[in-house]
Amino acid sequence: MPGFLISHVKLYDGTGAPPQTADVAVSNGVIAGITPGGAVSHSGLKEINGDGLCLAPGFIDVHGHSDSDILELPGADSKISQGITTEIAGNCGFSDFLERNDGGFESYAREVDAAKPAINLACLVGHNTLRTLVMGETARPAYPHEAEKMRRLAAEALARGAAGLSSGLWYSPGIFADQEEVCSLASALRGTGKVYATHLRSEGDTLIESIREACAIARAGSGLLQISHFKTWGSTNWGKLAGALSVIEEERKTGLRITLDRYPYLYAGTGLRMCLPAPWSAMTPERIHSLLQSEEDREKLAAELKKTGPSGCSWDRILLAGTDVPAHEKYLGKTILQSASAEGVDPAEFCVRLLADELNPFAMSGLLCGENLETILKQDSVMPGSDAGLASFQVKSAHPRKFGTMGRFFRMTAGLTSPEEAVRRMTSLAADVFHLKGRGRIAPGYIADLVLFDEQRFQAPEDYADPVRPVPGIEAVWVSGELAWTPGGGSVGRSGRFLRIPNRKE
Ligand SMILES: [Zn+2]
Repeated sequence: MPGFLISHVKLYDGTGAPPQTADVAVSNGVIAGITPGGAVSHSGLKEINGDGLCLAPGFIDVHGHSDSDILELPGADSKISQGITTEIAGNCGFSDFLERNDGGFESYAREVDAAKPAINLACLVGHNTLRTLVMGETARPAYPHEAEKMRRLAAEALARGAAGLSSGLWYSPGIFADQEEVCSLASALRGTGKVYATHLRSEGDTLIESIREACAIARAGSGLLQISHFKTWGSTNWGKLAGALSVIEEERKTGLRITLDRYPYLYAGTGLRMCLPAPWSAMTPERIHSLLQSEEDREKLAAELKKTGPSGCSWDRILLAGTDVPAHEKYLGKTILQSASAEGVDPAEFCVRLLADELNPFAMSGLLCGENLETILKQDSVMPGSDAGLASFQVKSAHPRKFGTMGRFFRMTAGLTSPEEAVRRMTSLAADVFHLKGRGRIAPGYIADLVLFDEQRFQAPEDYADPVRPVPGIEAVWVSGELAWTPGGGSVGRSGRFLRIPNRKE
């Protein structure tokens, strides 16, 4: 591979050190050398003028859901365009590779490589998928022999290179698992040096208890905990952040290493069912959908919803963001209140209609607190996680985090701390937590996953109406030293690969 030189850039090397002006030489896919900007003449190397621009290690999305998307959209437009060169997939307890009937991890890894993706992908092994495999949708905690079977499957995936274990205890079937079941599964992490990454059982009403539970599970594993999309869910829980952070501090003192991730937005994106009151809030999407086929239950739920209002926010802060029903496409990107008014019905009734017409429609809800987001982004253990799979620029609607997480995380975190600290969390911290060897820093010998960007222009608005576009300010992205993205050319290179993460002693 012929080498090249990116000259006279403002270099953020990923370590958190203040930026320096430098020339960075790349050859054979790795960083060959770094010299003070303009100091030497580098004859023979193709030169890319980086004057006025910044160079950082490729950004790492520690909380992604591209497991199956990567095979369908290997160009990975929505991620590579924001400078993401590596994603950790298999989050929230869902890892698609386990569902393959032909050998699981290995065949999936080979298929990802064969698809020639634009970005690198590493994968967690997920409790929800393991559980479905071993127990189906059984609504009770696992018996010891079932837990042992899950543990063995997880250990095998970890030995083959899974990056850690994930759970989503708010989702079905994870909600049926007790702490003991997940502790027993997490014991597969012992001696691997890999994390337990969790979508907590509750991010709202029982947030503190759920953090305690996650810590107990991590302690049964490797002692390394990653709390996914850390937040205080619903306005009634916004006051719990200080308590949650002090529990985390306290648990750290016992020797746990706790890191966090967050998407920098105030609207959560998940099933529309999240707005339902109890007991509906604890039901699976399938159960809700099947109950709502009866007129009596539809009326019952609508009456209840009229009384309580949507849980944690209001109808003017819930937008329909995804649907498989063609007749509902006209509601995409609009609030429940807007669409209900247009149809001349009560918003509660309209919401029930959407839930009855389709299994688990996707919504965005303004459940999160701006001040808390800032406090969270100030924590030095918080990394960016998009909580998103892949999309092309042709999709009709999406959560803006799909396209803008890195731009927004950089802009906000740089403002609250410093640009070099924002870059550190987007790169070397993530590479260290997930053992992405040779990535996350710009130093001689490191793999040349690189982002050239204009730090004034690199930002993403919190725009729910029109989010489908590349973030401004990304000038070029390289993966393993090959050009992967330019604003004019789009996704131009496909040098990403599946990353097998070896177990290592703690
Ligand atoms: Zn999640």
